[in-house]
Amino acid sequence: MTREISRQTFLRGAVGALAAGAILGPGRAGSGRAGADPIASGWDPLSSAIGGQVIQPGNGQFGTAKQVFNTNYNSSTPAVIVVPSSPADVQKSMAFAAARRLKVAPRSGGHSYVGASTANGTMVLDLRQLPGGVDYDAATGQVTVTPATSLYAMHQALAAAGRGIPTGTCPSVGAAGHALGGGLGAHSRRAGLMCDALRSASVVLPGGQAVTASAAGNPDLFWALRGGGGGNCGVTTSLTFATFPTGDVDVINLNFPPQSFAQVLVGWQNWLRTADRSSWALADATVDAMGTHCRILATCPAGSGGSVSNAVVSAVGMQPTGTEDRTLNYLDLARYLAVGNLNPSPLGYVGGSDVFTTITPAAAQGIASAVRAFPRSAGRMLAIMHALDGAVASVPTGATAFPWRQQSALVQWYVETGDPAAATGWLGVAHQAVRPYSVGGYVNYLETSQPASRYFGPNTSRLSAVRQKYDPGRIMFSGLNF
Ligand SMILES: Cc1cc2nc3c(=O)[nH]c(=O)nc-3n(C[C@H](O)[C@H](O)[C@H](O)COP(=O)(O)OP(=O)(O)OC[C@H]3O[C@@H](n4cnc5c(N)ncnc54)[C@H](O)[C@@H]3O)c2cc1C
Repeated sequence: MTREISRQTFLRGAVGALAAGAILGPGRAGSGRAGADPIASGWDPLSSAIGGQVIQPGNGQFGTAKQVFNTNYNSSTPAVIVVPSSPADVQKSMAFAAARRLKVAPRSGGHSYVGASTANGTMVLDLRQLPGGVDYDAATGQVTVTPATSLYAMHQALAAAGRGIPTGTCPSVGAAGHALGGGLGAHSRRAGLMCDALRSASVVLPGGQAVTASAAGNPDLFWALRGGGGGNCGVTTSLTFATFPTGDVDVINLNFPPQSFAQVLVGWQNWLRTADRSSWALADATVDAMGTHCRILATCPAGSGGSVSNAVVSAVGMQPTGTEDRTLNYLDLARYLAVGNLNPSPLGYVGGSDVFTTITPAAAQGIASAVRAFPRSAGRMLAIMHALDGAVASVPTGATAFPWRQQSALVQWYVETGDPAAATGWLGVAHQAVRPYSVGGYVNYLETSQPASRYFGPNTSRLSAVRQKYDPGRIMFSGLNF
């Protein structure tokens, strides 16, 4: 059942769904909190109502079922893990949760930085068993995917048709969690964020109604789905994206002395200012057991690598200490950016971000000083600069919930670590080092205890209003503090 809804029909639907919940069994309406007592709630009516699984604490599978990509959250204790086998199962689960005022945490790829898709006390809806996969329609050039489809699975299916989609680099990240927060990567200058490619989505609202969100139907919800962050408003059960034609690219790695990172950052940004949108580059610094490494990684249409490399070197104003270049097709680029590991093992990590209007020499010095301050004993650290220009900046700030359209770059702070306390302590130091230049953060690199306004800037109040309309009972758990 998909339809466009008005606010009135939505509210009527919510009441109906609560009644449906009552049929499933007595609830705990009114508690309104995550962590409602799962035993007292009674899961049997839900188990018998859905085709999928309801995995309760005490079930032998629970320990495995609650685990996510970030192993620092392995000790989380959700109230229950529901594994729907159809969108109808999602509807029934949402109605059940709404009737009992249980918090719902959807899970797609399970890569949330703060373990939001395995949060304490929530009903986790693990969407990895939804049927569908990747469906490319050659007539429209659009692709429809289930929410937990991995980024690499999408690239693989599209590459066979000579098409591509803009995404980030981690191959096992889920389509929904990624696109709902934005989705920033090597094709962003040319094709925008992954959420900019979204054309429509099927969403199950709190209460259990299934709706379609697009420019034509429920446009306010569609607005919020494009960068407003996962876990808000409802559970997305399928997503349809525009795609683009692909071609071979040259990939250039330029290594620079680590003590030159600030100079490299300013040069990187100066090159981006003049670079054609078909080119892209990130700049990063890595601190590991071997020391500190600094580089610019650029991609550009095949055959233009030499001139792009010269232009980057000239903008930085320094010869690289090492250079690598190669020509790759679209799928090989996805593999290359995944460092060859298409199915990375779960690991512990702590991350965050800062967004910059411009990388001034002072801002670059701030970023470089944060890198220098990293204590090597805390793990392996990457400071990765993402460009926010090109097609990302062609979208007006208020056109989608993703707000950073007039800013030039963001840094991702990322520490692979089994010592979250030490890494989190350094993250605070890093934020402090760039505080005069930072205007906010990126919701896909969510941190705990930050206000939602840090992630949505000028779009915060509108997002908050859309969320209030679609989830007035605050059933959805997102990890965001509105
Ligand atoms: C190693 C690594 C590399 C990364 N690289 C990049 C990058 O290059 N560029 C970039 O932009 N990001 C990158 N990310 C961040 C990534 O985009 C986010 O972590 C993203 O939110 C993960 O989505 P997921 O579906 O895998 O995770 P999940 O944990 O399943 O979901 C993330 C959030 O979305 C919610 N959610 C999930 N599914 C749904 C749904 N169907 N409906 C509603 N809400 C839902 C969850 O409840 C949670 O709050 C990277 C992450 C990692 C771990």
